[in-house]
Amino acid sequence: TSPHDDAVVLVTGGASGMGAATARHLSAHGARVVVVDLDARRAEDVARSLSGPALGIGADVSVPEDTERYLAAAVEEFGSLDRVFLNAGIGGATPLLEETVERFDAIVAVNLRGVFLGLRGSLRLMREQGKGGAIVVTTSTAALAGSELAAYSAAKHGAWALVRTAAIEGAPFGVRVNAIAPGSIDTPMMRALEGVLGGGEAAARALHATTPLGKAQDRYGTGEEVARLVGFLLGDDAGWITGVTVPVDGGVLTA
Ligand code: NAD
Repeated sequence: TSPHDDAVVLVTGGASGMGAATARHLSAHGARVVVVDLDARRAEDVARSLSGPALGIGADVSVPEDTERYLAAAVEEFGSLDRVFLNAGIGGATPLLEETVERFDAIVAVNLRGVFLGLRGSLRLMREQGKGGAIVVTTSTAALAGSELAAYSAAKHGAWALVRTAAIEGAPFGVRVNAIAPGSIDTPMMRALEGVLGGGEAAARALHATTPLGKAQDRYGTGEEVARLVGFLLGDDAGWITGVTVPVDGGVLTA
């Protein structure tokens, strides 16, 4: 047996980056996977590319009605929802002094309100199902340390606070809730940041060098390296782990 045999797992932001890598990883380990993304077409493409049963859904995680719809669609298709990876997010590399109200609100809507809606909806559903469950939220090293990404860091700190609250509220009905804090993972979001720094190999090397393992190996972390951590935290091997953040950051928080 595999650690996710027949489990129904939903992944938001599943059409790209570490969400898509995690959808592939979980599918390869036996899960039935629901891929949710703002980009419906790419969500369906990823779902179709998986080896096992899968469903792709277009939804905006910051919208309450969309949240209800993606949760209901998972249950309708597969009969239950066992594990959830709340991973959708948008980047934002603006310092506080330069930040606009519009961009602040847009980043908070996806990265914080989206997590609130996903956690509340998943917990309500899992309480109703009465068979426990597990949830992982993607925060960031910017949820744990100061950074020059004002709105992004604020939203991710808030998401981390919600994870701790949800872990306490979920415990009585057997739901574990944890966070992962990635740093410098090779995804389209990271490549966009490279572009802000001028792009090309020089920008990539400069970004690699901000991370101990990245500097040593001249690379970012991979989506698969994130996926293996998410798979562990969502699975029963992590049965006594709840309310924590696990960094997957090549050592950047310790440097
Ligand atoms: P990505 O841009 O490749 O993937 C993010 C996905 O989320 C995209 O497919 C996008 O369409 C989707 N999305 C955006 N807004 C959405 C919305 N409102 N509703 C539904 N889906 C939406 O980026 P990634 O690097 O794989 O990012 C995944 C998560 O990891 C994000 O929460 C991000 O903040 C976080 N993160 C990334 C890094 C990194 O180094 N790449 C580091 C720390 C944290």
